[in-house]
Amino acid sequence: MLTKQEIAARLQSVRERIAASERRSGRAPGSVRLVLASKTQPAEALRAAYLAGARDFGENYVQEAVHKRAELGDLPGVTWHLIGHLQTNKAALAARTFDLIQTVDSERLANALAKARPSPPIPALIEVNLGAETTKAGVRADEVERLVEAVRAEVELRGLMTIPPPGRADEARRYFIQLRELRGRVAAASGLALSELSMGMTDDFEVAVEEGATMVRIGRAVFGERVK
Ligand SMILES: *Cc1c(COP(=O)(O)O)cnc(C)c1O
Repeated sequence: MLTKQEIAARLQSVRERIAASERRSGRAPGSVRLVLASKTQPAEALRAAYLAGARDFGENYVQEAVHKRAELGDLPGVTWHLIGHLQTNKAALAARTFDLIQTVDSERLANALAKARPSPPIPALIEVNLGAETTKAGVRADEVERLVEAVRAEVELRGLMTIPPPGRADEARRYFIQLRELRGRVAAASGLALSELSMGMTDDFEVAVEEGATMVRIGRAVFGERVK
């Protein structure tokens, strides 16, 4: 793990880069929420980021998040995001552990979440697999509208999330544009606001901000390279 000072300095630098991208693209300052992708990081790394001002953590594994939440239970005001794929058999535990599930990709999963948290329903994003990669979770773009109708009563839908296919940052741009346009179409068709666009990671978050991200999920730029 990096030192607390390093984590604080890197967090500050990421914040400045987000702010610069907001300015460059004419977006209001503070319109992008920084979610720290903290998988494999020890709770102490998250604590260091918290003390430097971070309030949103994104975890990939339910069990790992359960432990970290417990270890960081003394820190008020943290929002926990699930950003990894969720299996239906872990939905009940996930519904108790997270504040926002970013990776809803099936009706079955939404049903299981609703059963665990019927009212108020849990806030959620739909994960979209824009490259239609068979190795990746998420629904294909052409299935999103149908899934929104199927799950809108089960979870509180707030928007869309994507991880673009691997490639350079300038190649990611077209996927970010696709997600933004898809959100516009689905919002119009469903009458839901779907205001959140969760897109952009360490290698491409500035492009994502330019294309309308409301949340970026950043790991390595703040915590350093993952060792595990
Ligand atoms: C790990 C991860 C990130 C962050 O990736 P970095 O390249 O470390 O910034 C973002 N989103 C998801 C879903 C992840 O699993």
